[in-house]
Amino acid sequence: MKQHYLVIDIEQCFDCNNCFIACKDEYVGNAWPPYTDAQPRHGHRWMNIERTERGAYPRIDVAYRPTPCMHCEDAPCEKTHPEAVIRREDGIVLIDPHKAQDKHLTKSCPYGAIYWNDESGTAQKCTMCAHLIDSGDAPSGPRCVHSCPTEAIKHYCLEPAEMEQKIKDEKLEILLPELNTKPHVFYKNYHLFNKAFVAGGFLKGGECVKGADARLTGNGIDERQATDCFGDFKFDNLCPGDYTLYSDDKAVRKVTVPEVGATDTIAFNNNSQNLGNIEL
Ligand code: SF4
Ligand code: SF4
Repeated sequence: MKQHYLVIDIEQCFDCNNCFIACKDEYVGNAWPPYTDAQPRHGHRWMNIERTERGAYPRIDVAYRPTPCMHCEDAPCEKTHPEAVIRREDGIVLIDPHKAQDKHLTKSCPYGAIYWNDESGTAQKCTMCAHLIDSGDAPSGPRCVHSCPTEAIKHYCLEPAEMEQKIKDEKLEILLPELNTKPHVFYKNYHLFNKAFVAGGFLKGGECVKGADARLTGNGIDERQATDCFGDFKFDNLCPGDYTLYSDDKAVRKVTVPEVGATDTIAFNNNSQNLGNIEL
């Protein structure tokens, strides 16, 4: 049976918060029975936009991760509260507002996607806008999807085999794969959020060198690029480990990308390396 999925491209999100506001517009003051009660004006972030900063000044970048409920196939919230959580055959996970009066439901989600509504006394979360999908009023999918000006969030209704192919073709990733929750929310270009880069610049006689050879090897990679017009190179999508930087096959720097110290299961600590300007 076809399943609903969201695919979020980290490279295309610029933190404009349109998705967050569209979600508020759809649900604040609007109950959609039997899908959900109204969302309170404050405190809930059904579409929560996380941020990470990588590198060190001036070689720094920032990435944003829109994070809704993951609509897990093997949902921890359903395991702890089977009376309140409904996983539909089409993959959408809903919380029954009449059976969600247990505050502990908010603790059951490892992604922090469930919020407590003090006004209605219920646990709530992203519904994947199932009321719009079911009504056929959402030609481009849920509200967050069609409010995104860069099309960073996309909605698909696909057979699982078609989705498998898409995951392979577009190198999609999920959050916390080690939990085996089988999310229906996937991320594209996730390395911009959870992997490291090694960057720097090459100088000759104090002047930046455009088109200089830069090669990084080690930890299973061997990549080469030419420096840009500022003399800069940037190797991305790196795992922790030891690397060697070369130019014209001469080793110019050893660099270690350290392990990140996980502070919780989602947070990511910056381990990208700015090597500064290197005189060749
Ligand atoms: Fe439940 Fe959280 Fe998974 Fe959503 S992301 S289905 S709330 S466990
Ligand atoms: Fe909000 Fe709908 Fe987007 Fe979920 S799918 S975050 S409910 S707008």
